[in-house]
Amino acid sequence: MVLTSLSPQESPSPAYICPLDQACSYLEEAARELKLDRSIIDILSNPRKVVTVSIPVKRDDGEVQVMAGHRVQHCDILGPYKGGIRYHPAVTLREVSALAMLMTWKCSLLGIPYGGAKGGIAIDPKSYSIGELERITRRYTSELIKDIGPAVDIPAPDMGTSAREMAWMMDTYSVNVGHAVPGVVTGKPLSIGGSRGREMATGRGVMIIVREALADLGKSLVGTRVAIQGFGNVGSAAALLLHQAGAKVIAVSTGMGGVFSDVGLDIPALKAYAAQNRMSIVGFPQAAAISNTELLTLACDVLIPAALENQITEDNVDRIQARIIAEAANSPVTLQANQALEARGIMVLPDILTNAGGVVVSYLEWVQGLSYVFWDEERVNRELENLMVQAYRQAIQQTKVRQISLRLAAYTLGVGRVAQAFTDRGLYP
Ligand code: GLU
Repeated sequence: MVLTSLSPQESPSPAYICPLDQACSYLEEAARELKLDRSIIDILSNPRKVVTVSIPVKRDDGEVQVMAGHRVQHCDILGPYKGGIRYHPAVTLREVSALAMLMTWKCSLLGIPYGGAKGGIAIDPKSYSIGELERITRRYTSELIKDIGPAVDIPAPDMGTSAREMAWMMDTYSVNVGHAVPGVVTGKPLSIGGSRGREMATGRGVMIIVREALADLGKSLVGTRVAIQGFGNVGSAAALLLHQAGAKVIAVSTGMGGVFSDVGLDIPALKAYAAQNRMSIVGFPQAAAISNTELLTLACDVLIPAALENQITEDNVDRIQARIIAEAANSPVTLQANQALEARGIMVLPDILTNAGGVVVSYLEWVQGLSYVFWDEERVNRELENLMVQAYRQAIQQTKVRQISLRLAAYTLGVGRVAQAFTDRGLYP
C-alpha cells in the first residue's frame, strides 16, 4: 500500500515506468523471501516524511521564477536520513521517493548507521548561471532548514550537484543557525571538512564490485572489455579506475553521444578532451562515433549503465550482449528487463550495492568531522574497500544460502536489517 498523495502518476505517457512502483516491487519480493509481516511492509512502502517547498528565484535578467524543491525522508530507523540532492529535468516526487527508499536499503546493506532520503529540483543546471544556481541552492536549503541537520538529515551531491552546491548548503544552514555546522552535508570541499577520496568514491566502489564479481568467475580486470553509459562523476571515475587497473574501456557515452575503440579508449585523454569540450566526448580522436543506444548492446564483458534510470528495458534487453551488468546508476534496469537478464544468466550487480561507494565515503567524511580527525586518501580508500568487499561477500553468501539472485540477496540484507530494527525498537506509542 502506497500513500495516496504519491499515487497519481506525474507522467501520463503509456511507456512511463514508475520508479516508486518498481522500488516497492523489489521491497515486496524481499519481504516475501524474509516472510515479513504485512504491517512492516506497509510501513516501509511509504516515506516517513515528504517535503515539497516553493523556491522563488531571481534570474539574472530580473525575472522571478518559482520552482518546486523536494526532499523525501524514507526511513530513519537506523540513524539520520542520508541521501543526495539531484538537479535534473526528469526529477519528480515519485522518482525522489523511490531513490529515498533505495538509500535506506543501501545504507543498511553497507552497514552504515543511516536512514534513506533524497532531494531534488526539476531543473537543467546547464540552463542556469552559477549565480542563479547559488540562489536556487541557498533558498532551497533555507526552506528545508528545520528538516535537515547533522543528526536529522544529511544531504550530499547527486546528479547535477557537486561539492560546490554542498558548500552553499553548509554555509546557508550555518548562517541560519548561527555557527558553523560542517556535518549538515557531506561531499563538501576539503577546505570546510570534506573527505579525501569522496569525489572518486562512487566510481571506486563500482570498480571494486566489478573486480570482485570477475574474481568470483575466475577472471581479472586486466583485458576485460567494458562499456560505460555516462561520463559524469560516477562514469568517468569508474572508467579511469578500471582503465588504470588494466581493463579495456571500449566505449563511453554521454547524453550528447559516445565514442568506441576496439583496442580500448585512452581514458585520461578522454577526460581531458571532455573538460575542454564542455563535457562532450563527441569527436574524440582515434575513436568511432557510437550512439547511447548502440553502446548498451555492444559485445563486451561488462556493461556499466552510469547515467539515468530505465535504460535497459523490455525493448532492448534481448539485444544485450554483456555478461555482467554493473548498475552504477540507480535503477538503470527495469523490473521486466531484470527478469529477462536473470533468465539468460546475465549477472546483474545491483545498484544498492554497486553504487554505494559515494555514501560510504560520505559516512567516512561525517565520522572524520565528528571526531575532528582527518585521514589521508589511502586510509579513506582502504576503509571504503573494506566496507564494499564486506557487503559484496555478505550478499554473495546470501545468494548461496537462499538460492536467490544477487539483487534479491542485497535487498533481503538491506530490508532485513531495517525490519529487525523495527522489531527491536517497537512501535510508538
Ligand atoms: N547521491 C549518492 C547516492 O545516491 C550519495 C549519497 C550520499 O553520499 O549521501 O548514493
